[in-house]
Amino acid sequence: MDYSRKQQLRKLITERKRQLTENQLIDFSEKLFLHLESLPAFQKAKTILLYHSLKDEVRTHLFIEKWKEEKTILLPVVDGENLKLRIYKNSSDLRTGAYGIEEPTGTLFTEYDKIDLAIIPGVSFDEQGNRLGRGKGYYDRLLPNIKAYKIGICFAFQVSEEIPTEPHDTKMNLVITENGILNEK
Ligand code: ADP
Ligand code: MG
Repeated sequence: MDYSRKQQLRKLITERKRQLTENQLIDFSEKLFLHLESLPAFQKAKTILLYHSLKDEVRTHLFIEKWKEEKTILLPVVDGENLKLRIYKNSSDLRTGAYGIEEPTGTLFTEYDKIDLAIIPGVSFDEQGNRLGRGKGYYDRLLPNIKAYKIGICFAFQVSEEIPTEPHDTKMNLVITENGILNEK
């Protein structure tokens, strides 16, 4: 159905990303996490799903290191068609997995109801909280298991007017960029 529109959006965002330097992306990422840290939903959360960023995503590495003692940090691990979650303790537990993503080798985590907050990456988000991923549907298969408050994070140039959605797409409750909260749902 909307596959070509989704593909077009992915290409457009990739083009925009090419025009920014690595230092700009690092700077935006730092600003974004200051907004996240100011939210009660973050401050109260004990168990948080995060992700270990790739070069073109909001940089999570420093943020994860900063909070790993105080919070239980979960990171996704690609397992075939699905994402499984493992507890992150230390950078020495990371191994490079599928798609070159660093994945923890720590304890498998399956108590999805104990997750207090989910921080979700995306190629693009819109003001309604709709999410566009890389096109493999990994988070679409994971998120129905997770009832926690979901925050999509991306750079401001990744925000779209309207993302085409399908019934399997899960909405975010909130989207944050380096400029702050986009819109709360
Ligand atoms: P993304 O969310 O990564 O942008 P899409 O939303 O376009 O990607 O989904 C990509 C594909 O993932 C879909 O065409 C579908 O085949 C598969 N998919 C998504 N959600 C599910 C689901 N809940 N169960 C099974 N397959 C799914
Ligand atoms: Mg999707």
